[in-house]
Amino acid sequence: MGNVTYAQTMSSIEKLFDDLTFEYVRQWKAKLPSRRVIGFLPIYIPREIIHACGMLPVGIFGAGDRIPVVRGDAYFQSYICHLPRTVVELALCGNFGDFDGFLFPSICDVIRNLSGIFKLQFENKLVRYLDFPQNFDPEVGGVFYRRILDDLINDLSSLNGLRPTNNNLNESIAVYNRSRRLLLDLVRLRTEKPHLLSAVDFYKLRRAGNTLSVEDFNALLENLLQFVGQIDAEPEDKIRVVVTGAFCEQPPLGLIKTIENAGCYIVDDDFQLGLTWFSQDIPDYSDDPLGALVESLLELKTFSSAVFEDDRMRGELLAERVLERKADGVIFCAPSFCDPALLDRPILERAMNKHHIKHTSLQYHENLGQFHVIKEQAGAFSDMIKLWE
Ligand code: SF4
Repeated sequence: MGNVTYAQTMSSIEKLFDDLTFEYVRQWKAKLPSRRVIGFLPIYIPREIIHACGMLPVGIFGAGDRIPVVRGDAYFQSYICHLPRTVVELALCGNFGDFDGFLFPSICDVIRNLSGIFKLQFENKLVRYLDFPQNFDPEVGGVFYRRILDDLINDLSSLNGLRPTNNNLNESIAVYNRSRRLLLDLVRLRTEKPHLLSAVDFYKLRRAGNTLSVEDFNALLENLLQFVGQIDAEPEDKIRVVVTGAFCEQPPLGLIKTIENAGCYIVDDDFQLGLTWFSQDIPDYSDDPLGALVESLLELKTFSSAVFEDDRMRGELLAERVLERKADGVIFCAPSFCDPALLDRPILERAMNKHHIKHTSLQYHENLGQFHVIKEQAGAFSDMIKLWE
């Protein structure tokens, strides 16, 4: 595999990232009359179920600074995050014309309200707010979540008349297991050698994973793993950081680039957390695949401020993550007005202090255009660790 192939791969990923008209989605859908497209908001939805229904799950992450917000602002007060404004703008401009439905996972009030706006805006499309259990007892949260998944299948099946069999569900679980394994291989490779694939390229690759069919994405990952494994390059003198808090509204590319250019290798982040929501395979041979999906969620060990904290202390999970990635510090990086991330920050900072892990904090919004303050802050953080640790 030569440079051209890598360049072509990266260029197709970039094209996909830039395309706010979802041309790939249109072409995918046109191949079979029964195909449907389901958009979803961050962070996690059970994409296996959508896939098993013969549909394409597509992540909706706003538009960053790539469209002017003209009408989107009229729907929201000024003191909330920016993401819903560009999502509404895209909706009003007709960019979701090929989408047949939208799922809004319960994460915060903003997403809940956005689902209401979509219900009014798209009367003829499926719009569903998806609750997740806050209780992890199989007899309580398990029964509740099972009902949610059953209802979801009923809703999706009503769009194309196809009801997934257990075999369909198991096949879908298997193909997403493969996808998570490949992505986690790449994460591990970057843990060892973060200089082989820049944080920006890795980010764009994962954004592609939220648009492409899982089969196309897996082929892309296999290709890239092979290529990156063959690169021979020396690392630069940078510190290693975990970036956390950016799981919903996405940071601008310039911000990710700035952190790396300021002397930090981002060895872990939660930008596209839903793709690796589970770190273990979900059983794909069960005669009760829905039960397997439910069980996996009840046993979730993922660190995120958006996951209800039962006995799984988030601060400890983050400290474990820092250790696992051999990171020198944490950058708390959250969108302005993001309640789930910002309300958690003091608790996480206390946990980092307890474990003697260095940290710094910054805020952004998706259409931020000036990065010099962030460059100084990340640069000072890097220097502090390099010089005095
Ligand atoms: S960025 Fe934060 S506050 Fe805004 S929709 Fe996402 S989770 Fe909610």
